[in-house]
Amino acid sequence: MTPVTCFAGRKVALFGLGGSGLATVRALLAGGADVLAWDDSPESTDRARDRGITVFDLHDADFSDFAALVLAPGVPLTHPAPHWTVERATDAGIPVIGDIELFVQERRVIAPDAPFVAITGTNGKSTTTALIAHILREAGRDVQMGGNIGTAILSLEPPSPNRIHVIEMSSFQIDLTPGLDPSVGILLNVTPDHLDRHGTLAAYAAIKARLVAGSDLAVVGIDDALSRAIADARSGPLVRVHVGPPQPGFDGLSARDGTVFAADGTAIADLAGIGSLRGAHNWQNAAVAAACVRALGITEAELVAGLRSFPGLPHRMEEVGRRGRVLFVNDSKATNADSAEKALTAFRDIHWILGGKAKEGGIAPLRPLFGRVAHAYLIGAASEAFAATLEGQVPFTICCTLDVATARAAEAAAGSDAPEPVVLLSPACASYDQFRSFEDRGDQFRNCVRALS
Ligand code: ADP
Repeated sequence: MTPVTCFAGRKVALFGLGGSGLATVRALLAGGADVLAWDDSPESTDRARDRGITVFDLHDADFSDFAALVLAPGVPLTHPAPHWTVERATDAGIPVIGDIELFVQERRVIAPDAPFVAITGTNGKSTTTALIAHILREAGRDVQMGGNIGTAILSLEPPSPNRIHVIEMSSFQIDLTPGLDPSVGILLNVTPDHLDRHGTLAAYAAIKARLVAGSDLAVVGIDDALSRAIADARSGPLVRVHVGPPQPGFDGLSARDGTVFAADGTAIADLAGIGSLRGAHNWQNAAVAAACVRALGITEAELVAGLRSFPGLPHRMEEVGRRGRVLFVNDSKATNADSAEKALTAFRDIHWILGGKAKEGGIAPLRPLFGRVAHAYLIGAASEAFAATLEGQVPFTICCTLDVATARAAEAAAGSDAPEPVVLLSPACASYDQFRSFEDRGDQFRNCVRALS
């Protein structure tokens, strides 16, 4: 745990008693603050009480008594409307901050030179965070990984000069971290997302830009217009990362055809054969990770070893089995066509399991990739609609459930004469019609694969 001492002896209001909220209360108490914690959900307040935390209904509080309001990242700060605690804090003139701001303030006091890597972007945050942490750990470094990827930042060990914090940050978390000053700040990409919570694309991009602006060294993927503009506006140290054909005068790291290249054009890492880093989107993640760990003193040999041994994250093009020539891949995290496109691009001879609760636009944008699909196996609520899109272009079977789809796909793939047929769960849909979550869907797929006779 990282005790937060910078609020010692002061009163702090905290709203949002989920996992990171509970960790934050503990860290503030351990540092000597007086915390008044609340949540609108009785389940959350009960759970906090069960864990020995005193809860106080902030409706009854005088906000001008507080040094700050600490807000959980899921609670609306600005859109669609500020939460009532935010309005009370604003009226009282006190700052509204998140747990990562507490870490930032604590680091500044106890270990200002402690390495702190912050990673954001619309897509690829978790993969890149896990990859950087993995490469550093494999090279023997003391690494603490957390933030949006899972472990609350204040549950991690405190910052210190020989310990590297690798922290994934959502836009909501950046919004609550006004003092954000990582030693390496990474922006992968910016595409429209979460506009309900940020109002406009420009406002969303401006939040991502703050992470870059506050960094000692910034690493920015420049393959979309918004990220490129953020890189161009930067005056401090910057490594640009580009995926695609060489660009004249480009002086950053680049990746193409499964290889990462240094600024002078020398190849520094070959990604061919690394199952967890398939696809051009993962080349971006790998190149960005390479830029970051090189800046932290990792050698080329350590970089290559770390990339090669990266196990990948569950549910993102995760290899979950091989039976004879047939490879089974769990890409349950692909809850929309954009994400499923990445997996369809990475494989051929695909026995594609898809469906669930459809997103707007369905799978029509994936038509150019239908030639890679040997057969589609439809599950869940979107079956009829997806069947209409596939009709006449891809042979398909309506299977209704995941276990039937997996068994049918496995049998057909085993009987095909392709050199490496792939049974791919990449649903292009939300999971809620049949599963608790995309994780539940992916876990059930893994079990179905194990259970194949
Ligand atoms: P995040 O944490 O930002 O949601 P993940 O690393 O969990 O991202 O990846 C989620 C999905 O996003 C992947 O399954 C893949 O489809 C897609 N993705 C991953 N990396 C990138 C990238 N660099 N650019 C675009 N899409 C990506």
